[in-house]
Amino acid sequence: MRVLVTGGAGFIGSAVIRHLVLEKGYEVLNIDKLTYAGTLTSLRSVEAKPSYRFFKIDICDAAAVSSAISTFGPDRVMHLAAESHVDRSILGARQFVETNILGSFTMLECVREYWASLERRKKDAFRFLHVSTDEVYGSLGRDGLFSETTPYDPSSPYSASKAASDHLAKAWARTYDMPVIVSNCSNNYGPFHFPEKLIPLTILNALEGKSLPVYGSGANIRDWLYVEDHARALDLIAERGRVGETYNVGGRNERSNIDVVKRICAILDDLRPSGGPHENLVRFVTDRPGHDARYAIDAGKLETELGWKAQESFETGIEKTVRWYLDNEWWWAPLRQGYDGSRLGLLKAGA
Ligand code: NAD
Repeated sequence: MRVLVTGGAGFIGSAVIRHLVLEKGYEVLNIDKLTYAGTLTSLRSVEAKPSYRFFKIDICDAAAVSSAISTFGPDRVMHLAAESHVDRSILGARQFVETNILGSFTMLECVREYWASLERRKKDAFRFLHVSTDEVYGSLGRDGLFSETTPYDPSSPYSASKAASDHLAKAWARTYDMPVIVSNCSNNYGPFHFPEKLIPLTILNALEGKSLPVYGSGANIRDWLYVEDHARALDLIAERGRVGETYNVGGRNERSNIDVVKRICAILDDLRPSGGPHENLVRFVTDRPGHDARYAIDAGKLETELGWKAQESFETGIEKTVRWYLDNEWWWAPLRQGYDGSRLGLLKAGA
């Protein structure tokens, strides 16, 4: 099995590649532009394997993408490359429109050309998995869950750009009969998560005795999924999911942001008592514009149809994650420079 993964130097892409190479024994080609968010150090455990290859490519570059596809000859494409940080999309949306919309369009077109040229058996077995987010559905109230039929209602430039790319992917399935599947997942956490995101930012700021910025009152709710559970789900969806369908992925782990931050503080109080109580470092800052109140996923279709189930509870996953950051300074220290939240204005307002 030969799988082309885009964005494999990122948080989720690297977990997917570690899963495919180390657990499944697949051949993988990673194509990634290596933006600020991409680092090949996340792939140290696979980089020496002959079954793994990397090409530094911008997914907006059709000639480079086409050449990589025909050189590698994939049986499957898993498309994860994206600009992914909501705060950055608010400060400047252009790169999000270019990579998430035009880059996805370029992937779809290059893959369509390749797929059309395949002989019947390979053509029938081929799959293009477009990996997306639950943020395309907008915000929930206190009750209810996002399902695959929830209407799209994105709030941020990031989620709007992902929504646009989902529509392109679904249109390519309907119009060109391309074997496309779309997945929409809730917030991921775990090892190799870039230091600007809430969970690693909180762990690392707390370790350094810096403020722990929390938007608004911290009441916003996210449905957290351990990244390795997501990687397994994506592999399963690409392998057994039905063409033209959407699958929602989530761990049924709803937590408010302030509860997540307090849980991390409590774990660090145990592991590093000298720096505690870490909760004293919490600072509530002016809320993010357009901040969605609550996300929560109904993963019933994925569970009943494909037999997937999240293995990690939030309690075990978050403790594993904190311990991983304590043990792996070699990975995060070079990326951490300048990412304590102040760079994005997180600490200024209301701090
Ligand atoms: P990430 O920001 O950690 O990684 C993105 C990767 O894409 C990086 O390696 C980056 O170098 C690469 N990239 C960016 N622009 C590129 C371009 N033009 N050409 C080639 N490569 C490029 O993101 P992530 O958190 O790993 O998310 C991966 C995918 O999963 C994204 O599509 C995202 O929308 C989706 N997703 C993320 C989450 C989450 O909680 N992180 C949840 C659901 C869905």
